[in-house]
Amino acid sequence: MTVELISIGTELLLGNIINTNATYLSIQCAKLGFTLYHQITVGDNEVRLSDVIKTAQDRSDIIILTGGLGPTSDDITKETLAKVVGRELVMDEHSKERILSYYKQLYAYDTNKVLPKGLELITENNWKQALKIRDSIVIDNDNGTAPGYIVEDKNKIFILLPGPPGEMIPMFENHILPYLKKLQDKVFLSKMVKICGIGESKAETMIMDLIKSQTNPTIAPYAKSGEVHFRITAGADKEEEAEALIKPIIKELKARFGNNIYTTREDITLEKAVIDLLINYKLTLATAESCTGGLLSGRIVNVAGASQVFTEGFITYSNQAKIKYLNVNPDTLNTYGAVSEETAKEMALGLIKTTGCDVAVAVTGIAGPDGGTKEKPVGLVYISCSIKGKTFVKRCNFKGNRAKIREQSVVAALDLVRR
Ligand code: ATP
Ligand code: MG
Repeated sequence: MTVELISIGTELLLGNIINTNATYLSIQCAKLGFTLYHQITVGDNEVRLSDVIKTAQDRSDIIILTGGLGPTSDDITKETLAKVVGRELVMDEHSKERILSYYKQLYAYDTNKVLPKGLELITENNWKQALKIRDSIVIDNDNGTAPGYIVEDKNKIFILLPGPPGEMIPMFENHILPYLKKLQDKVFLSKMVKICGIGESKAETMIMDLIKSQTNPTIAPYAKSGEVHFRITAGADKEEEAEALIKPIIKELKARFGNNIYTTREDITLEKAVIDLLINYKLTLATAESCTGGLLSGRIVNVAGASQVFTEGFITYSNQAKIKYLNVNPDTLNTYGAVSEETAKEMALGLIKTTGCDVAVAVTGIAGPDGGTKEKPVGLVYISCSIKGKTFVKRCNFKGNRAKIREQSVVAALDLVRR
């Protein structure tokens, strides 16, 4: 099955909003084992939308359209598709009833009147949302008024979903996913192997032979700042068979990447893996951050349950703060500079002393764009981790802008704690 995504909305073309629907739906299609060759974004324009639908219809089996189902005049998705497939719009009584009860819920009942109070706020164009393309399947919207639709036409399937992600995602999960699963001729299973400490191109090169030779399962790499994720997807008649196909690949990846793999579970993030490890060993953690300025502790606190291990974090951005809170020797700062192996080490050791934590992690570096020199270029970051009397320091040379360097520093710091 080939799928094509059409994202509708001029605000998407103008860059006013990020197309998170396309990201979400692409991931869902990959999980289902559907092939997605094309994604198109088009404005709220009938002629261009019509063209895009016709192109999609010629080359794809399933066409998923998001946006433009609302009540306003720029919402034209349903109307345009109706013309392309040559069917009329008809009133759907069920949708009409739902819209009515949606508004009844929104506005308090006035017992003296037959109509609920405020119902006059349902404007004429709201009823537009109760129109359906003849012989289409109406999908209830539990989080809004615009229903979704499935239009089966000749041997093609059109799926129309509302634009707001808060409406689209639950509708997809509760109604569309079960429908699409019935179309699968196989069961598809996918697993994730998450890696850090190795760059994307190196990681990909290390398993290029596997990526190229595998057709089932397939291995797809994804780069995430400082991390690489491999999605392994297998199709089979039964879930156990798919699982059995994936197993040897994961084993092979473990053999090749060793300790660089921090999880084989999709729902585990790097920070979660670190927190779980510390909980397991009953160790407390504190952070001292210079160039990351709280980004590291922010990621840690993102994990529910972090309070079991994370005691405190210092943002020691200036030299004075490093001296004041972490006891870094002023001579060290003068001699080696704030961005140095020596300072990073003293930051971590000072952190152990002031907090009494079991594990201390310290970051100091040059995030840029200014402040770099020939000896100490932008992207130079030292990360130190102290645990049980041993102190490690890692020197990193990151590339990218300020935000990227800071993000990569956080990943490297979490990675160092993990090891
Ligand atoms: P509404 O009833 O709210 O008008 P709709 O189905 O007509 O819903 P649109 O008018 O196209 O959808 O978009 C409404 C809002 O939904 C947008 O302003 C935007 O915030 C969000 N949205 C639409 N498409 C996307 C998308 N592809 N990715 C992320 N958000 C989106
Ligand atoms: Mg709209």
